Amino acid sequence: MESSNDIVILTQARPRSPRLVIAGCVAHCHADYHEFQRSQVTPAAFIVKSDDEHYAGGCLRQLRRDPDHATALAFIDGAASDADRHIGDGALPGSAALLIERIEQWRSRERAVRSKGDNRGPDAMLLEYMWLRPGYVLEPLADWQYLRRYRYPVLEALDRSESDPMTWIHGLDKHGLIERVALRDRQRECDFCGSAHLNFVDVCPNCRSIDIDQHTALHCFTCGLVAPEERYIKGEHRICPKCGTRLRHIGSDYDRPLETNLCLACDHVFVEGEVEARCAVCKRSMPTTRLRLHKIHSWRLSGRGCLTAQGDGGHGQTLFEPRQYLPYPHFLGSLDWALKLAREGSHFGFAVAGLHLANMAELNQALGVGRTAELLDAFADRLRESLSDADLATRADPETIVVLLPHADRKRLAALHQTMRRLVAQSVQENAAGPSWRIAEHLLTAKSARDEDSATLLRRLRSRLADNATQQVA
Ligand SMILES: [Zn+2]
Ligand SMILES: [Zn+2]
Ligand SMILES: [Zn+2]
Repeated sequence: MESSNDIVILTQARPRSPRLVIAGCVAHCHADYHEFQRSQVTPAAFIVKSDDEHYAGGCLRQLRRDPDHATALAFIDGAASDADRHIGDGALPGSAALLIERIEQWRSRERAVRSKGDNRGPDAMLLEYMWLRPGYVLEPLADWQYLRRYRYPVLEALDRSESDPMTWIHGLDKHGLIERVALRDRQRECDFCGSAHLNFVDVCPNCRSIDIDQHTALHCFTCGLVAPEERYIKGEHRICPKCGTRLRHIGSDYDRPLETNLCLACDHVFVEGEVEARCAVCKRSMPTTRLRLHKIHSWRLSGRGCLTAQGDGGHGQTLFEPRQYLPYPHFLGSLDWALKLAREGSHFGFAVAGLHLANMAELNQALGVGRTAELLDAFADRLRESLSDADLATRADPETIVVLLPHADRKRLAALHQTMRRLVAQSVQENAAGPSWRIAEHLLTAKSARDEDSATLLRRLRSRLADNATQQVA
């Protein structure tokens, strides 16, 4: 199939002649995508022309799922839903010259794609799709009907394996193939199923019933009873239901306390209810501190992503993964480099801290292996998020994390301990099972780095982590 200057128009309203000439290009009209596929044409661009959203969406999605044409230009002339507009290339350009310009731009980029056709997996398709559109930004779309609320329609359209788009983005970011453009939203999600459909409900801090009510309460000075006002009313008078004192004067016999909430299930009177998040999808309840904060970004290809899109391999052979965990050998290499820097200059110092999970076996027992692994991954993600861009981290094994903190001092290490304690508190499960970490650290200066090498340093760190006597956080 040679690429041509032909254009394919997908339209239900087939014109009298199925071949038209637009901007010097031959335009072939087809009633649906299957009819087009039988024609064996490789067009320069598609135009989806319809007033019917369902028809337009159907054509676009079939096109993006077809490995032969998935990354092709596809203009929308007519109606389409918001999500379908995300997978098209916008409205048909206003003039023939503009249309030709778009096609030429796409073509020149396509020529730079070397080993096209070798790898038609979703990763390669997505990178190619982004590369073929100069300045392309992958935007999230808010959709209340969607489990996680934010979706990336292009990912859904190009992915034939139905994998989770958020995991996909996470993987591309981890490999440095895409980079953040802007933060679009911050959203709290269910810690169990990732849903963004949460109900925040006030509950009684004593018995956790939702049956609580605002009321006016009275506080008897004689016996200290705090109870709803109506329980004091006896005919004309106010009489304490507990000690029987008649309450005459506010300020001397009684007052109105701050506790103005009453639980109708257990009679507890309190100032403020506790807020609990209830997931509408998996039906679990959790304290709001347990929710996962998800930052929703728009993305573009990184420099490395552009190279990979053009077939310049290297994907998977990652040398540097900003903000993520480095492969262990690369971490060793970076540590050696940092030691050299410290030895050479008098101003560069850094810290290496090892974190070791002390109770893996207990967690496996209490939560199951799957949930424990999930918990550890979430913990590692949150820890990485709390570090700065210049910090490096590696997971030496599933239970051990090592971080390198450039320019760190005692204060920075204290902050790391603080972060660890906060993360530990956040990851305690309902049945009170939570991770328990040991921490060991070294501060390196020009002097102390003199006789160090990365392998010995890490060996020493790890043997201290294996020692039961080593300091434990939380
Ligand atoms: Zn209660
Ligand atoms: Zn009383
Ligand atoms: Zn849930």
